[in-house]
Amino acid sequence: MAEITLEAITKSFGLVEVIKGVDLRIADKEFVVFVGPSGCGKSTMLRLIAGLEEVTTGKVMIDGEDVTALSAPERGLSMVFQSYALYPHLTVRENMGFPLSVAGASKKEIKAAVDDAAAVLRLEPLLERKPKDLSGGQRQRVAIGRAIVRAPSAFLFDEPLSNLDAALRVQMRIEIARLRAKLDATMIYVTHDQVEAMTLADRIVVFSAGKIEQMGAPLELYRNPANIFVATFIGSPT
Ligand code: ADP
Ligand code: MG
Repeated sequence: MAEITLEAITKSFGLVEVIKGVDLRIADKEFVVFVGPSGCGKSTMLRLIAGLEEVTTGKVMIDGEDVTALSAPERGLSMVFQSYALYPHLTVRENMGFPLSVAGASKKEIKAAVDDAAAVLRLEPLLERKPKDLSGGQRQRVAIGRAIVRAPSAFLFDEPLSNLDAALRVQMRIEIARLRAKLDATMIYVTHDQVEAMTLADRIVVFSAGKIEQMGAPLELYRNPANIFVATFIGSPT
């Protein structure tokens, strides 16, 4: 399980404070979507949660344990980025198994985990192909597959579909909803796509300039945006 609690998080790069005091409790198995304008700190928030970046002040807790001082591998969360660099010289199977082989898993363990992940993502027919012989959507599924082989208790997605064309995005959105139901893990998902946010989220968190502007269930925000800013991101057009 993974309940993630953020307490009074700030982050400065040099003299510039980009995260300005964020408090947030994400329940175990909750699907939380972060939205907000470019540069408001969404990616930085994910990196702070994953441990890829150190907080300036504040506390990150996972299941009640203070993990603020722990490195990314010690926190054990899995992150999926917008640019999904696969190793071109490795097959899909080898790409997906890579995080486990780095972690020192046996060949048998790697095969079992990759086969499981491939079944979930319906990648079985593609396992022996190289990335160049895959479509954009298939590559993104492999990148997600690589994130799930380690069976982390939480996933952090940073605009994973934004490089895909509109039709593929719709298909992948369905895929992610399916994945979510299967994996039963905590998920934090950054997107600038309102439909993705509305359809995937248990709760949407709207960020503005390093702070939480408003959060709530999709329909709650849609019907009662606190201000025009939130309304432009998620609110009802009326
Ligand atoms: P978003 O993902 O919402 O578009 P980011 O989290 O990427 O926003 O960036 C938030 C702010 O922090 C931006 O002003 C960005 O320029 C700045 N920033 C992000 N990473 C760094 C860094 N490593 N060094 C300096 N400034 C950074
Ligand atoms: Mg970003």
